[in-house]
Amino acid sequence: MLSFEDDIVISPNKSQTTPNLTVVTDVEIKPVAANQPSHSGRVNASDKRMINGQTDVNQLVPFKYHWAWDKYLAGCANHWMPQEVSMSRDIAQWKDSTALTDDERLIVKRNLGFFTTADSLAANNIVLGTYRHITAPECRQYLLRQGFEEAIHTHAYQYIVESLGLDESEVFNAYQEVASIKDKDDFLIPFINILTDPQFKTGTPEADQQLLRSLIVFACIMEGLFFYVGFVQILALGRQNKMQGAAEQYQYILRDESMHCNFGIDVINTIKLENPHLWTAEFREEIKGLMQHGVELEYRYAEATMPRGVLGLNATMFKEYLRFIANRRCQQIGLDVLYPGATNPFPWMSEMMDLKKEKNFFETRVTEYQTGGALSWD
Ligand code: FE
Repeated sequence: MLSFEDDIVISPNKSQTTPNLTVVTDVEIKPVAANQPSHSGRVNASDKRMINGQTDVNQLVPFKYHWAWDKYLAGCANHWMPQEVSMSRDIAQWKDSTALTDDERLIVKRNLGFFTTADSLAANNIVLGTYRHITAPECRQYLLRQGFEEAIHTHAYQYIVESLGLDESEVFNAYQEVASIKDKDDFLIPFINILTDPQFKTGTPEADQQLLRSLIVFACIMEGLFFYVGFVQILALGRQNKMQGAAEQYQYILRDESMHCNFGIDVINTIKLENPHLWTAEFREEIKGLMQHGVELEYRYAEATMPRGVLGLNATMFKEYLRFIANRRCQQIGLDVLYPGATNPFPWMSEMMDLKKEKNFFETRVTEYQTGGALSWD
């Protein structure tokens, strides 16, 4: 069985000629510096760099960062689509005024309110930001897969919102109208905006630290911490035979996000290894402060979404859980733990990530989802 701490081991694009389409031919495409090889020789794997690389980013091989390619293959093997999951029982429960309490309904609505925007922010961060600044083509390959997975997650939330007939404007505006959600997004967005700013370029210690800071916020705080109150809440519903279609989708999303987080941490550690001058004592202290701020914001979200105990959960349990996760994230990037002695009050979450079973936790369908690319043809 996989533990919480482990990596989860887990399209083609046809161009079409459209008649009557005016083809603009005078657009000059200028490659950014990182896309240009600095010399005419063949690429040596040892010359590749995670950032500020001078090798040709159009050449996937020779591999240097094999772990990135392995995660790309694992992500493809874990492919799933929301509409494969039946929402019929969820719809019946949502319509039945006795099937769910008001507090349980609040959890569902707040979850969707946060996640619908969060995964769109994640996708934009990858496609418009991070991707440009990473010069390892095998990591770019994973980022392309990750970007599509973020789109699938947004699709899943929309599928749930539509299936349950929720007020779309309420859900999709929650990140601007619900304080505990807005506070999390307001914290994240400046770090995303740095990377998506067309003027931003790496190559100086200051800029490289800005990139590293944003990557840490994205992987360790957004994907690695801000998602976890929501994951626990919906999966706790599923464990009590409530909203199992939604819970099953969250289970797949948790598996994807766990790998996103671990990939991001591998990128962060590689940048540190290749650029040790960035990892100053001052910078480390700043990161610790950001982690503590993240824990506070996520705890406030837990309090706001659970004004009373619900499903055997309460906000105080999440204080311990978030401290436990934050410690783990710190250790993963080489920082001392922030909250010594914090323990995991939800050990069952490890089982939720372990989908290598004949059936999933909610026993609604076979979850060993393997597509052609992962099948053996022997
Ligand atoms: Fe993600």
